[in-house]
Amino acid sequence: MTAKPPLSVYLAAPRGFCAGVDRAVKIVEMAIEKWGAPVFVRHEIVHNRFVVDGLRAKGAVFVEELDECPTDRPVIFSAHGVPKAVPAEAERRQMIYVDATCPLVSKVHVEAERHHQDGLQMIMVGHRGHPEVLGTMGQLPQGEVILVETVEDVAHVAPRDPDRLAWITQTTLSVDDTADIVDALRARFPAIVGPAKDDICYATTNRQAAVKAIAPRIDALLVVGAPNSSNSRRLVEVGRTAGCAYAQLVREAADIDWRALEGIRSLGVTAGASAPEVLVNEVIDAVRARYDVSVEIVETAQERVEFKVPRVLRA
Ligand code: SF4
Repeated sequence: MTAKPPLSVYLAAPRGFCAGVDRAVKIVEMAIEKWGAPVFVRHEIVHNRFVVDGLRAKGAVFVEELDECPTDRPVIFSAHGVPKAVPAEAERRQMIYVDATCPLVSKVHVEAERHHQDGLQMIMVGHRGHPEVLGTMGQLPQGEVILVETVEDVAHVAPRDPDRLAWITQTTLSVDDTADIVDALRARFPAIVGPAKDDICYATTNRQAAVKAIAPRIDALLVVGAPNSSNSRRLVEVGRTAGCAYAQLVREAADIDWRALEGIRSLGVTAGASAPEVLVNEVIDAVRARYDVSVEIVETAQERVEFKVPRVLRA
């Protein structure tokens, strides 16, 4: 038997589940307990197939739109948030609904509403089509939120009044790319108002900082996360930008491209905010099967954030 090659694995911390994802999953589980199956969920509760399949097995039914839900079963809105029209429609149809929008996304909704009431038009930094962006833009009437995705987009923004603007951001963006876009907004619209830094949440910020800390020490990075998970994809980009030559997004161990990892001596592992730790452990076990692994946890922050579930489920 040939000896396995040595490999130093640097495990980023924090990684994986954030408080908003944890709360959203609990909400679905508690709703099934309270009302029995099926409980309908509008959109993937969090962007992870493993989590969604687990909840489906317990009695959750995932749909994309409210009109796919019967009126006599409860419906849950995903952690990403929903346009205002969605709960309004659920109320009109007299449905029981529970909003699992992450409180940090709701905070951005409140910010947008406040600026709107002050008569400001909003510029949102975010990714077109992402459910969080659709939800946040849907808090205000059409035309009140202009979306920008890049620094280049800023040059093409045509607001109603350049002196009456505010900016907000998606919570799961790249911290560094967003800072560049905000700088461009401030340069073009000096009167624009916004949050002190940005609306990127603690979990996104911490996971990116942990990847930056390990990137210079690793030959390759595996990010456990779903292809439609914004914060996971950002971790891949952050890893590359911070100096790691090869970064791969993997949903699970079976996705690992072993050929691309040939010859490496060090490997970073992290997970997006919607990826459960069991998938990280599977990835590390798969790496252990091929390499003589030594694991070092690189912790750059400690997280103690916890969000309560809505009162209706606590009763
Ligand atoms: Fe909330 Fe951030 Fe987690 Fe999104 S990534 S659910 S905003 S804590």
